[in-house]
Amino acid sequence: MTKRRVYVDNAATTPVHPQVMKEMLPYFTQYYGNPSSIHSFGRQAKHAMDKARERVAAALGAATDEVFFTGSGTEADNWAVKGVAFANKGRGNHIITTKIEHHALLHTCQYLEKHGFEVTYLDVDEYGRISLKQLNEAIKDSTILISIMFANNEIGTIQPVGEIARIAKEKGIYFHTDAVQAMGNVKIDVKEIGVDLLSISAHKIMGPKGIGVLYIRKGIRIDNLVHGGAQERRRRSGTENVAAVVGMGKAAQLAAENLEQHTKRMTSLRDRLIDGIIERIPHVKLNGHPTERLANNVNFSFEFVEGEALLLSLDMAGIAASSGSACTSGSLDPSHVLLAIGLSHETAHGSLRMTLGEANTEEDIDYILEQLPPIANRLRELSPLFKQCEGGKVSV
Ligand SMILES: *Cc1c(COP(=O)(O)O)cnc(C)c1O
Repeated sequence: MTKRRVYVDNAATTPVHPQVMKEMLPYFTQYYGNPSSIHSFGRQAKHAMDKARERVAAALGAATDEVFFTGSGTEADNWAVKGVAFANKGRGNHIITTKIEHHALLHTCQYLEKHGFEVTYLDVDEYGRISLKQLNEAIKDSTILISIMFANNEIGTIQPVGEIARIAKEKGIYFHTDAVQAMGNVKIDVKEIGVDLLSISAHKIMGPKGIGVLYIRKGIRIDNLVHGGAQERRRRSGTENVAAVVGMGKAAQLAAENLEQHTKRMTSLRDRLIDGIIERIPHVKLNGHPTERLANNVNFSFEFVEGEALLLSLDMAGIAASSGSACTSGSLDPSHVLLAIGLSHETAHGSLRMTLGEANTEEDIDYILEQLPPIANRLRELSPLFKQCEGGKVSV
């Protein structure tokens, strides 16, 4: 019998949906024209791009000419922040963001700080939510941009983006949100939220890797990030990755269409996993907000357990999870997000993220709940601190 394999790392990436794959394939070998060419091959490719743009626009509640394809979610974040910063530096040099953003955002802000911009990194509470009062207090005459993520990739906490948008609008400040994790898990309507710029990425919603979208509301002052030819209405140069664009369009369409049914199923699996862990394993803490959290996100700290050891043991049992975020695993620095919600270095190091996806079943959850407790128990037996705490008795 082959060993069970359970992939619960969907915040790192997802498989490509068969329908997405099917629509992409002809654009590699059959419809391979350059969308800028005027002959029929070019027009076919151009037509596919137009259709994909319409699908993304419909999924976000945007107009088609507000949708710009990029090379990744990271590039969309870079473009939003650098583009607005450089285009509006005559008005001010101050940017407000949070301490729990993705590195695509944080490292971009750190770069801008080296180039004359001032950045305020807002604190979050123990659940990972910002305070609207602190946001209001951080705003100055020189503030040109607020960039706050829709939902966090590590702990799943959802921010009050509608209220943030209202505050930004009232003060005449642009508001960007990184919605890479929110897409497919939360309803997104850019007009309803009132956001000015919004980033998404295909590979987090069963699309291909290496393609993202930046929504730019009409009339926003923003510089280009990538210079060159006239692609993307002179806003983002480089011959378009047509197959990936087609994949992004289909993935966004499916994400929006399946949203209700998907989140209902994910929430039920998520809560089965959360309740099961709390029931079976002592000394655990759920990280992130209890209710304002992504339907597919489970993040726990296990006292007296080393996160990397936990991951490796789970991997041997066929379970693919993550400690903190995929970008920080591989380094020994504890996650900046877990530190920002007030965890100690030790507790942050003993954290495990499991993010569910379309392929997961109740059997997968039950398999995790069967495998995880003895693994955590065994690792704790190796911990001198745990022995002290429990008087040598293990009570899992
Ligand atoms: C994955 C992710 C990104 C980066 O997107 P890529 O397409 O992988 O570059 C940005 N922000 C968040 C919140 C993410 O989860």
